[in-house]
This record gives sequence, structure tokens and C-alpha cells, in this order.
Amino acid sequence: LTPVIKAFITDNAWAATSECLQVYGGHGFIAEWGMEQYVRDSRINMIYEGTNTVQSLDLLGRKILMDNGAKLRKFGAK
Ligand SMILES: Cc1cc2nc3c(=O)[nH]c(=O)nc-3n(C[C@H](O)[C@H](O)[C@H](O)COP(=O)(O)OP(=O)(O)OC[C@H]3O[C@@H](n4cnc5c(N)ncnc54)[C@H](O)[C@@H]3O)c2cc1C
Repeated sequence: LTPVIKAFITDNAWAATSECLQVYGGHGFIAEWGMEQYVRDSRINMIYEGTNTVQSLDLLGRKILMDNGAKLRKFGAK
């Protein structure tokens, strides 16, 4: 579940900081407020250690389908 957790946290951090920047409007881009740095810092978390997009492709396309979805069915079973 590592890629799921990594993507969930970092995607939502990006969304949250982007909203914060939006609240500031033009002032969000002014370095003195610090918001633009939070946006930059949260964006890189989606990119390094394997981009979230590539990790999701790997998880679905390679790992889950590796055994024709047997582990996924086991995970979803009651
Ligand atoms: C600040 C920083 C620090 C870093 N530190 C380290 C480090 O300490 N150690 C280390 O090993 N690496 C490090 N990296 C490298 C980082 O892991 C890579 O930049 C990252 O894996 C992305 O690879 P890339 O830059 O070649 O982008 P690419 O792989 O070219 O990806 C570019 C874009 O295309 C998308 N993409 C790529 N392939 C596909 C595909 N098949 N299908 C659909 N979309 C695709 C990606 O999601 C992304 O949006 C660091 C990078 C940065 C920016």
C-alpha cells in the first residue's frame, strides 16, 4: 500500500496548499508570505521517489495484475 499512501498524502497536500495560495490571490506569490514555498514543497513530493502517476501505473498495471488480481480479490474479501 506504500504507493497508495504516498499518493494520497502528497496529492492532497498539493490540493490544500494550492487552495491556500488561491485564498491569498496575487499575494500568494509574494515570497514574504511563505505560501509559494509551501506550494513548491508540496508539488515536489508528488514527483520524487517515483511520480505518483508512474507509481499508480505500476501498481495497477504490473503489481495488481501480476497474479490476475488474486491478491486484490483476497484484499477485498470479507
Ligand atoms: C528535488 C529533487 C530531488 C530528487 N532527489 C532524488 C534522489 O535523492 N534520489 C533519486 O534517485 N532521485 C531523485 N530525484 C529524481 C526523481 O526521483 C525523478 O525526477 C523522478 O523519479 C521523475 O523522473 P523524471 O524527472 O525523469 O521525470 P519523467 O519520468 O520523465 O516524468 C515526467 C512526467 O511524465 C510522467 N510519466 C513518466 N512516464 C510515464 C508513463 N509511462 N506514463 C504516463 N506518464 C508518465 C510523470 O508522471 C511525470 O509527470 C529528485 C528529483 C527532484 C526534483
